[in-house]
Amino acid sequence: SKLRVGLLFGGRSGEHEVSINSARAIATALQTGDNQSKYEVLPVYIPKNGVWQASEVGQQVLETGTPLVCDDSNPQQLWDFPPEVKTVDVWFPILHGPNGEDGTIQGLLTLMRVPFVGSGVLGSSVGMDKIAMKTAFAQVGLPQVNYKFIERSQVWSNACVFPKLCDDIEQSLGYPCFVKPANLGSSVGIAKVRSRSELESALDSAASYDRRIVIETGVTAREVECAVLGNDNPKASVIGEITYDSDFYDYETKYTDGRAQLHIPAQLPDNIITQIQEMAIEGFKAIDASGLARVDFFYVEATQEIFINEINTLPGFTAFSMYPQLWEASGIKFPELVDQLIQLAVEKA
Ligand code: ADP
Ligand code: MG
Ligand code: MG
Repeated sequence: SKLRVGLLFGGRSGEHEVSINSARAIATALQTGDNQSKYEVLPVYIPKNGVWQASEVGQQVLETGTPLVCDDSNPQQLWDFPPEVKTVDVWFPILHGPNGEDGTIQGLLTLMRVPFVGSGVLGSSVGMDKIAMKTAFAQVGLPQVNYKFIERSQVWSNACVFPKLCDDIEQSLGYPCFVKPANLGSSVGIAKVRSRSELESALDSAASYDRRIVIETGVTAREVECAVLGNDNPKASVIGEITYDSDFYDYETKYTDGRAQLHIPAQLPDNIITQIQEMAIEGFKAIDASGLARVDFFYVEATQEIFINEINTLPGFTAFSMYPQLWEASGIKFPELVDQLIQLAVEKA
């Protein structure tokens, strides 16, 4: 009999629309070739109010590609899961950002005792939190740009402490530097700053997004990414590169058609490719990821330095996204990739 795959998509984060597009691509892949006889899709859509919808609604959202408009007035409804949820054999959560990629959904699915695709609670939450992630990478000796962690309370402290904090950042990291909320994604809340006044307002803004903040030295580097697939013996894909005309890879550049270009495979020396692939696997293991992750790097051509930037445990998964394209270029087609991810979920459970 067919395995019933609960495709869990939408979600409460800013990446709701991307999630719908990822889910559409995965649903199609589950109805392609050999997958058709192996899997049955149950689309479970989570609108922006967080209330899980029955599969007829999910099907409709997959078909139209349009988010459902809903009201946010009855939080009680959050616990009324559609009864079909109980029939799912394996979950495929394809939710990006907070409440999807950060271990919260993974905790719920763990309690349901049904296998699911991707990292568990620990890998997901460590991957999402830039402070925990950097600490885990540092622990295994992965090279990173210089950084500092600070708390919101330091930014919103009295007129004595704040200037000292800024002095300290200027001295230890210099300009340009990047100010980032610890727990977002898609470049939301991230600022590149070049002066004291920009630093002050970026810190203030980041503090409004998150209790904890990361500040990093800005590097001039190529942005390259590597896809990882597997559980205990993960494999690394070919390397991809992103180029764009903007100041940095910000939200608008990420999600406006035509603003960023993907280059697969990236033109890099062989020894650099090998190093990036090894570092991607080390980073994957350092946070206890499983199933899939996209690991992002900065490559400074002049000095041949490679810095690990971040890991994304539920990367974009549309037909045009980096993750599936990297595997396609490495010899694994989209439907086969989806099949392998489900098998990895079942094996791990
Ligand atoms: P997110 O998780 O939101 O994608 P990132 O840490 O990847 O956050 O930062 C988003 C983008 O900001 C990067 O893709 C890059 O373009 C730019 N960026 C971030 N940190 C640095 C840095 N230290 N030096 C240069 N560019 C950076
Ligand atoms: Mg990220
Ligand atoms: Mg990023």
